[in-house]
Amino acid sequence: MKLIIACTTENLIYVIYLNYMNKTDVKIENTIILGSGPAGLTAGIYAARSNLEPILLTGSTPGGQLTITTEVENFPGFENGIMGPVLMDIMQKQAINVGVNIINESAIEVDLKTYPFIVKTQNQTFLTNSLIIATGASAKFLGIDGENRLMGKGVSGCATCDGAFFREKNLIVVGGGDSAMEEALFLTKFASSVTIVHRKDSFRASSIMQERAFKNEKIKILFNSEIKKINGENKVESVIIFDNKHNKEYTMPIDGVFIAIGHTPNTKLFVNQLDLDEMNFIKVQNITNTSKEGVFAAGDVSDPKYKQAISSAGIGCIAAIDTMHYLEDKNLL
Ligand code: NDP
Repeated sequence: MKLIIACTTENLIYVIYLNYMNKTDVKIENTIILGSGPAGLTAGIYAARSNLEPILLTGSTPGGQLTITTEVENFPGFENGIMGPVLMDIMQKQAINVGVNIINESAIEVDLKTYPFIVKTQNQTFLTNSLIIATGASAKFLGIDGENRLMGKGVSGCATCDGAFFREKNLIVVGGGDSAMEEALFLTKFASSVTIVHRKDSFRASSIMQERAFKNEKIKILFNSEIKKINGENKVESVIIFDNKHNKEYTMPIDGVFIAIGHTPNTKLFVNQLDLDEMNFIKVQNITNTSKEGVFAAGDVSDPKYKQAISSAGIGCIAAIDTMHYLEDKNLL
């Protein structure tokens, strides 16, 4: 076993311990995949079919962000669209069928300063010759007064999860991207009215989604508007809105506030270990190569631009092929 370049004291002790053991007792994985969205599962499928016997750690949301969405109309292969959770269930079953070892745990520590790399979960420690990071991204929140306190009491980041609790209610959706349009449209199934509150004077959402929102009679739009505070004792009662065009503040009574302002990449484990960009996305070259040899990234964690299920799946495929070439080139297979 090839060991140590530099690592933390605890991991150094662990590797010294491994050196004392019979080396044949120590299993080194070919590859570990972190994340179970379209990128991770596709990487798993390709890695398994290349005989890499991949281990995939699902993370805290098995199936990733698509499990909290509704209908997916733009993933090729489904002529009438498919529900996000169903798509991810099929993908996971396909991964298992081709031999991916899916473990329902999260990596809590990754040490890329050792080689083989060390990946720790709550219950296990793995050594691996390569790593595919597909940890995705998490919903962002506004960070305003009342938001945290009233979370689950009228404030939500997921219309699919919470929309049905708001029958005949008046709701706000914050944001101007596709997520905001999608959440607003979904909420009209339950709510009496949905007001999209956006800080600019136009949306960045795709024109088809904007058009659907504009056409929906239950949807109202407030441009140039920012929510400054969410009021209520045990449930949302009103919000304070700042009209940034006319420079005035007012209170609007409301029953629920859905935040749909984008996502931050899940890269905490890799700070000071991999090069990240100014928004903390993993920097990649030649599509999947991170700043560390043998570590590849795919999906939303390294993609601030396209962020689509299908592009994530495609890059997951590329990451697995790149991993295989890396292991072959290093004579590690
Ligand atoms: P986006 O990053 O595209 O949009 C985020 C929106 O939130 C922007 O309008 C942004 O405003 C606003 N925003 C960000 N931070 C704040 C803040 N602090 N306060 C107020 N507003 C804020 O994220 P989405 O989640 O909408 O979409 C991500 C990607 O996923 C996109 O590529 C999108 O196309 C895709 N997607 C596709 C779907 C589909 O095809 N069905 C559905 C959902 C997402 P500003 O414009 O001023 O920057």
